[in-house]
Amino acid sequence: MQVPFVDLQAQHAPMREELLDVIGRVIDSGSFSGGSFVDQFEREFASYCGTRHAVGVASGTDALWLAMKALGIGPGDEVITAAMGFIATVEAILMTGATPVLVDIDPVTYTLACGGLRQALSPRTRAIVPVHLFGQAADMDAILDFAAEHGLLVIEDAAQSHGAEYRGRRVGALGRAGCFSFYPGKNLGALGEGGAVVTDDDAMADAIRSLRDHGRIGRNEHGRIGWNSRMDGIQAAVLNLKLKNLDEKNELRRNIAARYRNAFQDVQDLTSPTTGENRTHVFHIFAIRYRERARLMEALERKKIGFGIHYPTPIHLQPACAPLGLTRGTYPVSEECADEFLSLPIYAELQFEQVEAVIQAVLEAAPAACVLS
Ligand SMILES: *Cc1c(COP(=O)(O)O)cnc(C)c1O
Repeated sequence: MQVPFVDLQAQHAPMREELLDVIGRVIDSGSFSGGSFVDQFEREFASYCGTRHAVGVASGTDALWLAMKALGIGPGDEVITAAMGFIATVEAILMTGATPVLVDIDPVTYTLACGGLRQALSPRTRAIVPVHLFGQAADMDAILDFAAEHGLLVIEDAAQSHGAEYRGRRVGALGRAGCFSFYPGKNLGALGEGGAVVTDDDAMADAIRSLRDHGRIGRNEHGRIGWNSRMDGIQAAVLNLKLKNLDEKNELRRNIAARYRNAFQDVQDLTSPTTGENRTHVFHIFAIRYRERARLMEALERKKIGFGIHYPTPIHLQPACAPLGLTRGTYPVSEECADEFLSLPIYAELQFEQVEAVIQAVLEAAPAACVLS
């Protein structure tokens, strides 16, 4: 039995007719760039997140960049984020002209280690961008307290955690703004690219609406230098359709995670992900930690079971980040995780037998403690 790491065909096949129908409606309306479908998605997504505004943009990377830009972050500023994650967060910080300052991740939740904040703080610090990595919120109480104490903005990178909750509130609604990606593989994915910023801040929402559309303040009037980062109508219509099933699909991901956790609990040296206190996990990624990862990878390959590694290189060791001057040893937890993380297939469409096949393959390659002793 083959188990692909992601299976977008399996996700879309049962909704093909509905997808074609909403795409047809966009074609009939001619609202391809911005327009009524985008307006509708923005209303629905803001309501889902529990914020006053959602502003659709062209990608998650743009959402991060434009959110920071709208808040006036730029050259001379420092922005704190985590060393383990996807490069886009740091790219967006650099695109504003600000300097990223990294902190290590927590060894249990894999999100920003709040103990590192004090050391990262300087008189130039303007903001913290916590990444809700793999589908669970960072330790937001501690982050928001620290930010309040030092007058810092908090902009959430929620690109991997659509629908995850922290103390009963959805991510994106916890800081000044939350940034989402609708890349096809995300928990809420478009049939192409897309992103959104959610916020309660009216002025900020207005600023992003203007920035994403060439700084427009009138049809032929440009109040500032902006960019083209409009969301397209087809993606908005598709996202609106898929938003209706997001909670249900996240619940199915949680069920698969529970089966994996349960099956692996006696495996020597294998660490399953842990959900932190006061939060729900939406398992965009199910990353186990295993010291002899190469052996496990070989076994999974042999059995045609897909897997991923998120991420094999921490951000500070990426060649692109060499100018930051950070060497190996700077963020030991991120570095250890980069060597040990292995992501197993997890998506709502996984069949019961497919999950069983993944479990069997892992258990064969990584024996249980009781077998060894
Ligand atoms: C996917 C992702 C992004 C970037 O989103 P795009 O839509 O691909 O530009 C940013 N941050 C994190 C944590 C992501 O996983």
